[in-house]
Amino acid sequence: MTAQTRPVDHELIQAAAHVARTRCRGDNHTMAAAARAQDGRIITAVNAYHFTGGPCAELVVIGAAAAQGVYELDTIVAVGDRDRGVVPPCGRCRQVLLDYFPALKVIVGNDDRVRTVLVADLLPESYVWADHQLDAE
Ligand SMILES: [Zn+2]
Repeated sequence: MTAQTRPVDHELIQAAAHVARTRCRGDNHTMAAAARAQDGRIITAVNAYHFTGGPCAELVVIGAAAAQGVYELDTIVAVGDRDRGVVPPCGRCRQVLLDYFPALKVIVGNDDRVRTVLVADLLPESYVWADHQLDAE
């Protein structure tokens, strides 16, 4: 693992924190995510909790981005409601994010210790779905 330091997109954290503070309600919506598109736009979303496996905010943001015509994301961050700050992606989201955006940057850590890492660094020795498709070139 490299010790490379990447800049932290604080505007992106603020966007997610704003959505977490103003849009999360009750038990159904407790997390917000913000993603920076390649063109600089910020897309935000909240999770849709359900006991059957409702999607995390990071997954909802992928669909929200696509609905706006954004199919490439540069950086993503998730922030918890009730001032919980930056929350790292769960295992499922790490896998999905890696498969969708192999070069994605993810903001992790809390308060003054936030940092930007590559999604691949959050999932070492990972299963790469595309490598196991029979029609892969
Ligand atoms: Zn997740």
